[in-house]
This record gives sequence, structure tokens and C-alpha cells, in this order.
Amino acid sequence: MDRVFNFAAGPSAMPAEALETAAREMLCYGESGMSVMEMSHRSKAYQDIFDGTVALVRELMNVPEDYEVLLLQGGATGQFAAIPMNLMGEGDSADYIDSGNFAHIAMNEAQKYGGVRCVASSREENYRRIPDWTQADFDPNAKYVYITTNNTIFGTRYARLPETGDVPLVADMSSNILSEVYDLRRFGAVYAGAQKNIGPAGVTLVIVRRDLLGRARKSCPQIMNWTIMAEKGSMLNTPPTYAIYMCGLCLKWLKEQGGVAAIEKVNIEKSKLLYDLLDESAFYRPAAEAASRSRMNVTFTTPDKDTDALFVKEAAARGLVNLKGHRLVGGIRASIYNAMPLEGVRALADFMKDFEMEHR
Ligand SMILES: *Cc1c(COP(=O)(O)O)cnc(C)c1O
Repeated sequence: MDRVFNFAAGPSAMPAEALETAAREMLCYGESGMSVMEMSHRSKAYQDIFDGTVALVRELMNVPEDYEVLLLQGGATGQFAAIPMNLMGEGDSADYIDSGNFAHIAMNEAQKYGGVRCVASSREENYRRIPDWTQADFDPNAKYVYITTNNTIFGTRYARLPETGDVPLVADMSSNILSEVYDLRRFGAVYAGAQKNIGPAGVTLVIVRRDLLGRARKSCPQIMNWTIMAEKGSMLNTPPTYAIYMCGLCLKWLKEQGGVAAIEKVNIEKSKLLYDLLDESAFYRPAAEAASRSRMNVTFTTPDKDTDALFVKEAAARGLVNLKGHRLVGGIRASIYNAMPLEGVRALADFMKDFEMEHR
């Protein structure tokens, strides 16, 4: 069977070149005589793979020298708990912007560990836009301000970042990391589950400014403790060795595409193609407010639920799969991360035009 265009929200499409390299190296990696999966994580061969992956993160994201790069487990959801445990003591508090379901879950999780203030929320509008905030909304004594740069389920993205002064900005970048250039100096810490825009599931990338280490509470489990993990080079225990290797292959591919600035241009072109079509159509309705639109997750509906379902079914018959929207929004969601080629988005746009002609 031919490969399809996979519009899944995560785990999601990966570059074919990375998968082909992995297939070639499956039984014997380099001169090792074994699969990467069979290697000791303490071996020189594996340490080189690990270091190469971290070096690519540093290069592609232009990570400043005074920031630590950690490759952890537990997913983005693990970090919902790790962040408060690493950055605030029991009497402290943090500011959260509630821009989506994952932001909301992160906020609720943090409440177990300290005070949490919800600075702004668009929950009442089913998160169809990034909520408004002003400078005065933030507590100057907060231990951090928490945002979700791209809201995967609703298809929204921060077009501008809050100015938080001396209070560190912490960002869940799970669904738009490496898709656009960010100045990491704006952040105290950023993190992402790998399965959307980095590689396969099982790895969580955390990038944290070193002066924020050493603040974890005593009760923080070792494997969630950024300070201990930084001291141990992310290998306090066995890391997800194969998933990290795969991330390295995907990052190498991204570098070959010209890096983040180059792929950002493609991502703008890809998303514009779909949004222009949605805006010109009286049949499709975009789900997110225009000023908050995501470049990674494009959400929309047709005139009714039955037609939404038919859209998803007929698209799949054309090799355009996993377009069903999340149950919290309904309709259709096209996730077009870095690994989705322009060609795939063009195929979707062509299908959308045909479908509209037939069903309007
Ligand atoms: C997918 C996603 C999560 C959850 O990630 P897990 O790795 O499954 O815990 C959290 N935040 C955002 C923005 C996501 O897109």
C-alpha cells in the first residue's frame, strides 16, 4: 500500500527520509553490529547518538549557552506536574493563561502544588481565540507565567507573547515547537512532547534557563527533577533510547530543509493555503478567530455534522487521513506539522474544493 497523507494531531506524520534511514539501520547501526534498540544507554555508541540529538536541538533552536536541554519521559502531561514542583514552593503562586484544554489541565494539575491564578481565559468561548491580557494582570511575585503557544485541539496560536519582566515565562510548545523561530531568551523554560513536531512519542524535550535550576521542592520525584536530570545528562535512569535516536533523525531532516526559519516559511504558506480557501468559501466555516489562527492545526466545520463525517470519510478514500476534529470542537482538523509536505496540503485543498462543489 502507498503511504497516505496523515493529518493526525499526534502522534503524527514523520519525514519519510527519517523512517527510511531507521529502516536501513534497524538491524545494524553503524559499526555496532546491533540495533540502536539493543544498545546499552551507557555505551559510547549510544552516547554519541544522544549527544548528536541534543546538539541538533541546540543548533536548530539557537539555544543560548546558559540554557539546559533535557530529554525526559512522561510526556507533556508529566511536565504539568513537574513545572510547579520545580519552580514553586508550597506558599508560592504562579500565573496561568487558560487558552485551551491542555492549558486548563496544566492549571488544574499545578493547583495540587501551590497557588494558581488564572490571568485570562477563553474557556467560555470554547477557546476559539487566545484570551486577552494586559500587563497589569500579572502578579509581579508569581514564580512563573504559564502559556501554551499553540492550542492543538482548537487550532489557535499566540501571535504575540506576554511581557513578563523578571517573572519567567514557561511555555508548553508541544504542537508548534520547531515550526517557527522563537527567541528562547523570552522564556525561562519551554517544553514539548515529541510526538507532534519532534519525533515519535516517548520523549519530552525540556529547555530551561540554568538559573531556574536548584529550586525544586524536596518531594519532587527524581525523574521529574530538572536539576537532578541536568546533573545526570538526562540519564538518571534508562532514557527512551530508540525514540531519542528517531528524534535525532527527524531533526537532521529538518536541518536539511534549511532549519526552523526555512520551514516556518513553508508552514506559513501551507496554513495560508487552507485559511484562504476557508475564508473564500461560504460552505466551510473556520473554527478559530482569525487573529488567533494556528499554523499547525487548522480547524473548521462544514454546514452540519453529517457532512463533517462524510468529509472525513471521503477524504480518507483519497488517501487524506485522520481529519476528524477533536470531540471538544467537532468538525474537521487538519494537523499540518513540519513533516506534512506542501504537496499534502495542496491535495487536501483540492479535495476541499471538489467536496464543496458536490455538497453545497
Ligand atoms: C499533545 C499535547 C499535550 C499532551 O501531550 P502528552 O505528551 O500526551 O502528555 C499537551 N499540550 C499540548 C499543547 C499538546 O498538543
